[in-house]
Amino acid sequence: MALIYDLSGKTAVITGSNSGIGLGIAQQLAKAGANVVLNSFTNNDEDHALAEEIAKASGVKARYIQADMSKGDECRQLIEDAGVCDILINNAGIQHVAPIPDFPAAKWDAIIAINLSSAFHTTAVALPMMRKAGWGRVINIASAHGLTASPYKSAYIAAKHGIVGLTKTTALETAEEPITANAICPGYVLTPLVESQIPDTMKEYDMSREDVIKNVMLKRQPSKEFATVEQMGGTAAFLCSTAGDQITGTTISVDGGWTAL
Ligand code: NAD
Repeated sequence: MALIYDLSGKTAVITGSNSGIGLGIAQQLAKAGANVVLNSFTNNDEDHALAEEIAKASGVKARYIQADMSKGDECRQLIEDAGVCDILINNAGIQHVAPIPDFPAAKWDAIIAINLSSAFHTTAVALPMMRKAGWGRVINIASAHGLTASPYKSAYIAAKHGIVGLTKTTALETAEEPITANAICPGYVLTPLVESQIPDTMKEYDMSREDVIKNVMLKRQPSKEFATVEQMGGTAAFLCSTAGDQITGTTISVDGGWTAL
């Protein structure tokens, strides 16, 4: 059997894809031929321009749909508005760092809603579409923090462990169908989310930016290098290929060896 990496004719919906990993995945899936639907909670000209750039660069259909992934009804509406969803990438995510007694309850609720509950809502609407189409891929963007823990990231770590559990359940509910569900677990990738943590960490440890990157962040990553958004996109494209037909219910770490330690 020849392996097929061509995603022409498929449509991918990627939540939280106007920056970072989500945008990187959208670009790589489009390069593999998939039409893409970008999303975030904003609705700026720049958001729509990103979709236009992808369409121009890869010759696929690309559009941007505003929907707030902290709200269950908007998560469901995103998939309805997309109309087709062969590939669902649950990627939207936020982060907050604080010890549990000081962790604002509203931040806990927002992180659980955006990083975990949104994937439940989108999957609930996407699965019937995939069943109708006779093919589907659900890819949840978890984290090395979905498999390990560290202090002060309680909500993020709970949400990422939760999405690994949701991934396995989705895989078992679709196991006898041509639908797979997997989680990608990135280590550190230098996106706006990680950039936003650097100033506070510099203050906390009284370190330079270079030292925070080298001695705090990449200390956890044996490769001593950031992973890239292109590598996340390539991993998603691999899972969408026929090479991925029997890969379901698993986590794929793209973390430079973090979780091997
Ligand atoms: P990012 O900040 O660049 O991207 C986050 C995306 O989520 C953005 O597009 C943002 O607009 C969107 N988003 C935030 N709130 C939203 C909401 N309410 N509704 C819709 N969209 C919303 O950060 P990133 O690093 O690219 O993160 C993407 C995913 O990868 C997240 O789930 C994150 O937890 C995960 N991740 C990132 C890293 C890393 O090192 N960067 C590591 C492990 C996991």
